Amino acid sequence: MRYYTINYQDVIVDSGGDWDDFALSNDGAAATTQSILGASLWSQISGSQTRSFLNALFFPVRDSGNPIITRYRCDSPKKSRLFEQKITLNGDCSLTVSHELVWKNSKNTAKILTKNGNLTNQCAQCLRVECGNQWLETYAYSLSIPNEIQLNYSVCPDCKEAATMAIHDARIIAFNKNASGRR
Ligand SMILES: [Zn+2]
Repeated sequence: MRYYTINYQDVIVDSGGDWDDFALSNDGAAATTQSILGASLWSQISGSQTRSFLNALFFPVRDSGNPIITRYRCDSPKKSRLFEQKITLNGDCSLTVSHELVWKNSKNTAKILTKNGNLTNQCAQCLRVECGNQWLETYAYSLSIPNEIQLNYSVCPDCKEAATMAIHDARIIAFNKNASGRR
């Protein structure tokens, strides 16, 4: 498990678990605890849609006090990996965002990330790629579209819906808690 904590101004004030091991083997030294402490979280996340997606999850956690759990893919060059992200409100109004590995397996993939080709959308949450009106697993996409492509990070409709459901659940729990408190 790895986590980071942000204060009410979204400044990173802590990270831990196996954060540094993960950072060094995936993102490099620029993402280790020492490098990110004191930075705005938003300066560490690329893609405006990804920032806005995460921000949309933070607000209901702060508002309702209930955690929100979503899942996302974060593959390495050799493995497909699914993680669970849990956003929790702390007593001092900070948020802790923890990441737990759900599964990993060998990747059946041709390399698809290339530069200077056609621009297309990849979901930053599930890593599927938009192809016409479908969102395809990257390896399937690479088989059907062998041309060079350039990926633009966005969030696919399925991941938006899953997040909307998670937000809805957090608000319902808060509503029920308040309702029972009034009786
Ligand atoms: Zn997605």
